[in-house]
Amino acid sequence: MPASASVPHDDFGREEFSWQLPAEGITIRIRWFGLCVGYVLVNLLGPVQNRVELNAILTLGAVYALLDTIWSLRGQVFLRAAPLFISLMEAVFIGVLCHFDRGLESPFRFYYFLSLLTCAIRYAPSITYITFVLHATSFGTLALSHGVDTSEELTALVMMVIFMGWVTWASTALVTLLKTASFKLSDLNTELQNNQAQLERRIAERTRELQESQALLVQQEKQAAFGLLAAGIAHEVGNPLAAISSLVQMMNRRELDDYMHEKLGLIDEQLRRIQRTLHELVDFSRPATNDVAICDIHEVLDNALNIAKYYKRKKGKTIVTSYADGLSRVEIVRDRILQVFLNLILNAMDATGEGGTIEIHTSQQDDVLRIAVCDDGVGIDPDYRARLFQPYFTTKATGTGLGLFVCRNILQESGGDIELTGTSSSGTTFTVSLPAFDAAPSEERTTATTSAHDG
Ligand code: ADP
Repeated sequence: MPASASVPHDDFGREEFSWQLPAEGITIRIRWFGLCVGYVLVNLLGPVQNRVELNAILTLGAVYALLDTIWSLRGQVFLRAAPLFISLMEAVFIGVLCHFDRGLESPFRFYYFLSLLTCAIRYAPSITYITFVLHATSFGTLALSHGVDTSEELTALVMMVIFMGWVTWASTALVTLLKTASFKLSDLNTELQNNQAQLERRIAERTRELQESQALLVQQEKQAAFGLLAAGIAHEVGNPLAAISSLVQMMNRRELDDYMHEKLGLIDEQLRRIQRTLHELVDFSRPATNDVAICDIHEVLDNALNIAKYYKRKKGKTIVTSYADGLSRVEIVRDRILQVFLNLILNAMDATGEGGTIEIHTSQQDDVLRIAVCDDGVGIDPDYRARLFQPYFTTKATGTGLGLFVCRNILQESGGDIELTGTSSSGTTFTVSLPAFDAAPSEERTTATTSAHDG
């Protein structure tokens, strides 16, 4: 049965339910045991007279015990709101049983003790003491109706009442002790569970922090390794290239026919192109600085596009830039923000097929610049969307899953952010926001310079 707000509280001020149901289980067992003993007494061992009446009264008791059992099986307590009524019924029930049996001498008088015990288990001590008064009255009435003629009978009456009081006191004291211990244990258990939950939360938080800083470190190490490699290649390739270039130029200064001059000119042009590429490679892979500078975001975007053109998947794709005029400048660590845009552009290229288009829009609203990188690629599966910015989440065979995670870190350090602002089977848009450094322009830029960079 679900515990609800209406669950009553015991005299310890706690929800009774956890105690009440097991207590009810014990009570029911005591009742059935008493009834079985009663039937045996009446039908097998007891006096022959009043057997019918006694069986009838016991059966009434059995009906009550049955109702109690059914309620208990349904997770409820029969007549739980009327404990004194139950005590009264039991006082009358036992008194009548004794009356039809052997009066003060009847073995059914021991039922008073069992009744007091079950009452102490189920209810507050005050109820048990009132029940004691009801039982003492019941037994007193029985004595009066049967007459107390001898001093032995008077002693038996007094002793019975004293024993009832004794059982009342002993059972309430015992149950109070048990309840106190059980509530203390339950308090300790709750505290333990809370502590455990808190500990698990802390471990999860620390693990996440550790994973994130490890991811950032991995990314930095990769970049440093890439820088070293690129610088090495540029050096190894650059030197012979410079030598070839000067040889070509020397040859071109000689007396040669037009055809040779033209071809040597073409070779020189291609050599210069390779040198330019090498320059750009070295430029990009030089150790990043952490210097904050005031930059034009369009210049950073153009630089990212310039590097992205070397990416093998650029082929056959068009990049369209739509830059708003008069955008505020931004105060950023230039190299790091460049890394953000480069990552977004490369991701967009990975997502688009041959003939795909990538669009970059810039705009400004109040003092926030927004840069949207949109592609008409495959989109992002709904199941993956929540995990995009987690470290190591990748769907690519050769991906690291660090790109978007690092992007968000970099942007948040600069007071900006990145969001997935749209994705469907026909494309994806990531929007970067950055705080403007200059005074905010009066309204959002609507005019834009658009240009296409074909692959
Ligand atoms: P990586 O590129 O190494 O996989 P990222 O963190 O940059 O790491 O990207 C994580 C994942 O997000 C990618 O593997 C990809 O599934 C998805 N993703 C990122 N950008 C796009 C995009 N423009 N279109 C579709 N999926 C994307």
